[in-house]
Amino acid sequence: MTDISTGTRPGRFPELVPMVRPTVEADAEMELAIKEILQSGMLTNGRHVREFEEAACAYLGVGHAVAVSNCTTGLMLVFRCLELTGDIVVPSFTFMASGHAIGWSGNRVRFADADPRTWTLDPHAVAPLVQDAAGVLAVHTFGVPCDTGSLQELCDSRGIPLVIDAAHGFGSRYPDGTMVGGKGVAEVFSLSPTKTLSTGEGGLITTNDAALAARLRTARDYGNPGDYDSRFFGLNGRMTEVSGFMGVHALNRFSHWLGIRRSLAERYRSRLDGLPGLSFQAIPEGAASSYKDLGILVDATRFGMTRDLLAERLGSENVSTRKYFSPALHQQTAYRDIPVVADLSVTEELAASMITLPLYSHMPARVVEEICDLIREIHATAQKAGGRAS
Ligand SMILES: *Cc1c(COP(=O)(O)O)cnc(C)c1O
Repeated sequence: MTDISTGTRPGRFPELVPMVRPTVEADAEMELAIKEILQSGMLTNGRHVREFEEAACAYLGVGHAVAVSNCTTGLMLVFRCLELTGDIVVPSFTFMASGHAIGWSGNRVRFADADPRTWTLDPHAVAPLVQDAAGVLAVHTFGVPCDTGSLQELCDSRGIPLVIDAAHGFGSRYPDGTMVGGKGVAEVFSLSPTKTLSTGEGGLITTNDAALAARLRTARDYGNPGDYDSRFFGLNGRMTEVSGFMGVHALNRFSHWLGIRRSLAERYRSRLDGLPGLSFQAIPEGAASSYKDLGILVDATRFGMTRDLLAERLGSENVSTRKYFSPALHQQTAYRDIPVVADLSVTEELAASMITLPLYSHMPARVVEEICDLIREIHATAQKAGGRAS
């Protein structure tokens, strides 16, 4: 099957296998609802947004849900409403928006390292950093719930709030069996297209604190409680009605799609299991990941090839991958002036060796199997090359 004109072999996949595709069903119900919304003249923060908030509260088992325009804005509003000022401890192994939200709220990031097994914020690394911190922002990295038990204890000992960036966590479960969404002072989900539940763009703040929820509702509306006398510097963080409806619609089918997503992720894990030099994210006993992403850690020496070369080889076969989160936050230009006061060696190791593989709910299981076979072949070739490739 060699193309004579170029000497190249066509990739195993005739079309690019994307990293992610949003799970959105454009069915007749959706079509009708969008038409009705457009005709109603009520385009933002109305009945559908309220319905979505109620449905999300029921699904997540949490007292209050405040829908916002995106997760970054949601985090900024939480920091503003808690009136935090100072340094906020955050993992460096996260998406840039976690740190940006801290910066935009007028606070400063203080980087902490990740746990080498779960890849989430390591409470042991946080302990020496909370002394004079204003708060902690933890992340459910790739959908694996962070250690909220230990982190909450640390925060309580200093009297500071634990805020959770739950961008990856819609559908995840804590070791105690409760859904992600009910811990810390507030959890903030992202509903952007690459996340497990999407409303196009969108975010959802969940909390069991009624006063905070009420303040957040004012905050997302410029700080105006409705009498045109703004009480503080809020902003426009509202969700549109079309997004609200998309949320209700997606939530009705969410368990089904999440189940498929989990089984695809487990198929990856079992098919790649035992391949030398590859390891997976540990999920705490009793917890469940939403599998927002399926990451693998590549030990170049044992696998026979670096992470970068593996990504390149997969790319040449039409398989998209991402190097999440590389560079880590403290290595990015926007953070060059932030002093690094802690050891971030686990973070740097993860950033240098991680790769995420294609995963979305309606991806055919066959494609997962073919990608696994391809990775096994790439490994075998690297072995034969006697490590020259690394
Ligand atoms: C996607 C993401 C965000 C930002 O979400 P938006 O809805 O795009 O603002 C924040 N934190 C993490 C960890 C993310 O992956």
